Amino acid sequence: MLIIPEALIAGLVSADDALAAVEATFAAMARGEAYNFPVVREALGAGRQYGFKSGLDRASGSLGVKAGGYFPGNAARGIINHQSTVFLFDPETGRPVAMVGGGLLTALRTAAASAISIDRLARRDAKVLGIVGAGHQAGFQLRAAARVRAFDRVIAWNLHPEMLPSLGAIAAELGLPFQAVGLERMVEADVIITITSSPVATLMSAHVSDGCHLACMGTDTVGKQEVEPALVARASLFTDEVAQSVTLGEAQHAVGMGLKAADAITPLGAVLVGAHPGRVSAREVTMFDGTGIGLQDLAVAGVAVERARERGLGVEVAV
Ligand code: NAD
Repeated sequence: MLIIPEALIAGLVSADDALAAVEATFAAMARGEAYNFPVVREALGAGRQYGFKSGLDRASGSLGVKAGGYFPGNAARGIINHQSTVFLFDPETGRPVAMVGGGLLTALRTAAASAISIDRLARRDAKVLGIVGAGHQAGFQLRAAARVRAFDRVIAWNLHPEMLPSLGAIAAELGLPFQAVGLERMVEADVIITITSSPVATLMSAHVSDGCHLACMGTDTVGKQEVEPALVARASLFTDEVAQSVTLGEAQHAVGMGLKAADAITPLGAVLVGAHPGRVSAREVTMFDGTGIGLQDLAVAGVAVERARERGLGVEVAV
């Protein structure tokens, strides 16, 4: 089994690698070649969440699980709140193949999913990017979004405004003017990414203009919520996986309230393989409910393993 520690990941997997791997995964799901197993997600108390996301991709020969979660006390310890490790197994024999640090991979694969949704669903002429959130994932989201659309400015809101300058620094690095705004100014945005751990809706339907694309990426657990259910009902809704979207994604609330039918939610993979047209009008509000699936983790971990083997990196152990 190859052990690839977190510190090696940055040199092995790029944002472009993640985009290609996640796109291939969503497409394999749409073709029925890959599927996720039910998610285990448990509350450990004091806001800590721990669980397992796993799946099988027959197209790429990936079988495995990501174990990890969200530990909100970590920031005060100088480590990131999200902690995870990916384990890959041989799908023929069940033998362990690799153990891969999952922190950076999670950020890359999450930003990749959001960017794929923007690439496929946002208007081509989108110029203003809105971001709700300014934590660890937000910078990765900003960088990935900027790869798929020629934005000319970024506006951002966060419950904790003192976190916004670090996001502004990334915008500056990308050459994009950045402004911290009130939520009501999100009506100026052509694309809005939400990436918070909020337990209640903060972004309301009135904050969103017709024609906007939203990538709602923060809600990955029962009880989390970033946007008003009326906004979910208003949008043409896409997701990574419908089963997760209705149970632990942003759609859990709108579906639970009877405002959106589960069968009105389209897997993004259907757009990628040409089975769904995606956006059909310039005034349509589109929304991607990015819940985060195990197959995304396996895909990017697979890239890390391939690269590490090519370069003789990582630690091989007998098991
Ligand atoms: P972080 O702890 O670094 O940042 C948390 C963010 O949420 C900050 O912007 C903070 O100001 C905001 N926030 C905290 N409490 C809030 C509240 N009560 N109301 C509104 N906003 C609040 O976390 P992160 O690593 O940036 O992750 C953000 C979210 O994204 C988490 O919920 C995490 O579980 C989720 N996530 C989802 C995926 C996915 O695939 N969908 C992947 C990774 C992380």
